[in-house]
Amino acid sequence: MSSLVNVHWDSKLPIYEISHLKLQNEGIKSLLIDVDGTLISRQSNMIPLNVKNWIKESKKFFSLYLISNNPSNERIRKIAKELEIRYKSNALKPRKKITLDVISEINEESRNIAIIGDRILTDIIVGNRCNIQTILVKRLNKNGLPVKLNLILILEKMISIFLK
Ligand SMILES: [Mg+2]
Repeated sequence: MSSLVNVHWDSKLPIYEISHLKLQNEGIKSLLIDVDGTLISRQSNMIPLNVKNWIKESKKFFSLYLISNNPSNERIRKIAKELEIRYKSNALKPRKKITLDVISEINEESRNIAIIGDRILTDIIVGNRCNIQTILVKRLNKNGLPVKLNLILILEKMISIFLK
């Protein structure tokens, strides 16, 4: 039985270096994308240009949906509007309900859906609980670059060993 903390693809890359071709080859048709840390630093309101370009290219191949745990609907609404993507704020990952609502809204088979995020205990666990693919990416800093030493992720990986 696969564990809830298992990552299908631990990319070790920032989201903007994820290959669209590789995702297509995995049969992915829809991407549920975390916001803070994944697309933009929590300390920033400016979406990095390489993230914008990656999103623009992604739309040619996949349906996109933002799923954020951030309780500020205003922040997530602005980001979603700028990127022109549907969204949910305050998604309460790793609880399933809102993610399952999104999965039923996009009307795609679970195996063709992947969640992309920077956290194991929220993004990866909710993906596994909802039976979709899970992709871990590097957290972005406020300059839009991957953080070099992600202490939260190191801690989450240590916790994951005990949860397996
Ligand atoms: Mg995040």
